[in-house]
Amino acid sequence: KAGFVNIVGNPNVGKSTLMNALVGERISIATFKAQTTRHRIMGIYNTDDMQIVFSDTPGVLKPQYKLQESMLNFSTSALTDADVLLYVTDVVETPDKHNEFVEKVAGMEIPVLLLINKIDLSNQEKLVELVEAWKALLPNAEIIPISATTKFNVDYVMKRVKELL
Ligand code: GDP
Ligand code: MG
Repeated sequence: KAGFVNIVGNPNVGKSTLMNALVGERISIATFKAQTTRHRIMGIYNTDDMQIVFSDTPGVLKPQYKLQESMLNFSTSALTDADVLLYVTDVVETPDKHNEFVEKVAGMEIPVLLLINKIDLSNQEKLVELVEAWKALLPNAEIIPISATTKFNVDYVMKRVKELL
């Protein structure tokens, strides 16, 4: 089995930390051509019977500078160019239907796991509210609360990814 998984979301929500937790720090993160490092960082998960390539994309959809327009194009196509999309948010980010990721992810046909990260910084009540709000915004996504630093639910995310490939 083999598959390609994109990790997207706004800056600072924990995408890179999650990728490290998923592929394991031992398996070093391969950055290909120097040119591509700012666009995409690949992490490869290998077992005897499976290879999964994770792609950690920059969380920028709106170009702030002209130079970033290529990143815009990349990030947008990166959303659909995968077998599974991991859309990472965190307990700090407010669910908002005007969020560009939300608008793009809402109409997607590939499976989407919406990962609410940093739950170690939240409480049950706040988390329930967040889950409900995200569910209303993205009914097509499967919502999983996680903590990339404590690795809470990281194994479960990997399990779901494998099932969806
Ligand atoms: P990225 O910009 O989305 O790649 O985010 P990073 O992976 O660089 O993480 C941004 C910051 O959030 C770093 O300081 C991480 O240590 C922190 N962080 C990531 N995941 C968690 C988490 O599950 N809990 C907490 N408390 N902090 C986290
Ligand atoms: Mg990052």
